[in-house]
Amino acid sequence: MENLRQQIIDIGNRLWRQGMMPAGDGNISARLKPKMYLITPTKVSKGFLDPERIIVIDENETQLGGKGKPSSEIAMHMLAYKLRDDVNAVIHAHPVFATVFASTGMELPYDLLAEVAVKLGKIPTAPFALPSTGEVADVAHDYIRNYNAFLLKNHGAIVLGRNLEEAFLRMELVEHLAKIALITKVLGGYEKIPQESIAILEEMSKQA
Ligand SMILES: [Zn+2]
Repeated sequence: MENLRQQIIDIGNRLWRQGMMPAGDGNISARLKPKMYLITPTKVSKGFLDPERIIVIDENETQLGGKGKPSSEIAMHMLAYKLRDDVNAVIHAHPVFATVFASTGMELPYDLLAEVAVKLGKIPTAPFALPSTGEVADVAHDYIRNYNAFLLKNHGAIVLGRNLEEAFLRMELVEHLAKIALITKVLGGYEKIPQESIAILEEMSKQA
């Protein structure tokens, strides 16, 4: 458990330093073992967590340990573990450029960067949901089932991973893609990766 706790703390710091978790926002969770999970607390900066603040919960969201209250988006995290056996880590953040896309209604492109087809898959935008009310879990349901990364309209991004490191790298890649996509729009567009190459990249992703 200590190892996983420390990983959540480190990743919280890396995301905060990159400006993806401003103002105490964002949340991180991981599956510790069957029916037991770690999740970040609500209303504190994820840049400076300490081990006592990482909350331990069971599958009924009963708090078993940790100071403070669990993330207000706990329902969305628990839904991800319920729906996806392959998912052991969930990160929700507010990265600036990805949130710009989520707010304009423009989709993030799938044929711009090769690594997106290999490491992420398509990144759709889920409808707006009131934060911290359980609505996020409601709108996220089908996206969690079908995607590893998606945006929340006028809000931010959610990524899923087989482990915390994979989820973190996916969040970084979502934001990296959003930055490049935005700049290509300023410069008048980009040359698309050919469909046949995308198909090869998707095959590679199955082996990754
Ligand atoms: Zn949020």
